[in-house]
Amino acid sequence: MEGTRARPAPTLSDTDPIRAHAPAEGVGLSACWGRMRSPSHGPPMAELTNDFTWSKSRHEKLKECPRAYWNAYYGSWGGWEAPAGTPVRELYVLKKLSSRWQWAGSLVHDALRRMLTRARRTGQVWPVDELLASTRQRARSQWAASREKSYWREPSPGYGLVEHEYAEPIPGEEWKRIWDEVVEGSLRAFYRSEVFDRIRRVPVARWLTVDELDSWQFEGTKVWVAVDFAYVDSDGRVNLLDWKTGRERGVDHTQVGIYALYAKDKWGMGPEQVVGGLVYLGAEGAPRVDVAADPDALDGCRAEMRESIKSMKELLDDPQQNRASVERFPLLDGRDPCRRCPFRRPCGRL
Ligand code: SF4
Repeated sequence: MEGTRARPAPTLSDTDPIRAHAPAEGVGLSACWGRMRSPSHGPPMAELTNDFTWSKSRHEKLKECPRAYWNAYYGSWGGWEAPAGTPVRELYVLKKLSSRWQWAGSLVHDALRRMLTRARRTGQVWPVDELLASTRQRARSQWAASREKSYWREPSPGYGLVEHEYAEPIPGEEWKRIWDEVVEGSLRAFYRSEVFDRIRRVPVARWLTVDELDSWQFEGTKVWVAVDFAYVDSDGRVNLLDWKTGRERGVDHTQVGIYALYAKDKWGMGPEQVVGGLVYLGAEGAPRVDVAADPDALDGCRAEMRESIKSMKELLDDPQQNRASVERFPLLDGRDPCRRCPFRRPCGRL
């Protein structure tokens, strides 16, 4: 390699505070030790607090549906230790379910993260067929566990699919198509791409991050981010890459702006030293679309984040304590999006 790494990601909202013993999105560790014991009655754990934080996925959730947002960030809080059968536990388990498309995307991201992390450590790139074999094995065991709905029985739910939870009649060919076109197709396209070719020629010493969950402060609010891959090129510019398994969307560009603001905070890089790249793995040749991280684009991104944080806080009963009443987060009027939503049962929209 010119010397020679893609939430569940942990996607931002999927990090489990008990399993990981580390803060998840919105989780704060107060200084109040001893009020909470670990599940095994081991040493005392810090008290978990539901702090207000921001992420692009949180922003998108509120835009999709206010009730889904409340369920995911407030109604399910504490669900990791709530007894089975309680509403909070139900919301906690449901919010972790993925659609088949999200699942496929996370398989691709997870595979690339594993491969690139290993390459960073050992200098060796896994052959694509080996990476596909290991990913197929993971996919099969996740799919089988999901079909058994084992996510209801585990204290910290593993992978679960919305389609299994609601017994949607998905034909075998559709599952196969998802594997062939999205997972295998994306990974093969990545290996053949110019983007990967270039990455392999960058010395590992110039690799900055491989899909690691991190946070930074934006005007007093903690912001979560996980850059899929970042490296410094031969011109000294930070390249911030984002793997995409779906079609191009305008919001992807905002994501690169958030990455650039993070780069400024984390590595002290100005806009002229940062290049954003969206890599569309589902398109022929896995093309990279460069996105400007110029001062105007960053100002636009800051304004969007500021507005999003303001609108979230306006919905709270108590912004200081991050308390929210369900009554302020209505169900959608139209029922179309409910047909794919993991919360359709508690919402009464089966
Ligand atoms: S079922 Fe419909 S109203 Fe309920 S959270 Fe989902 S999208 Fe929103």
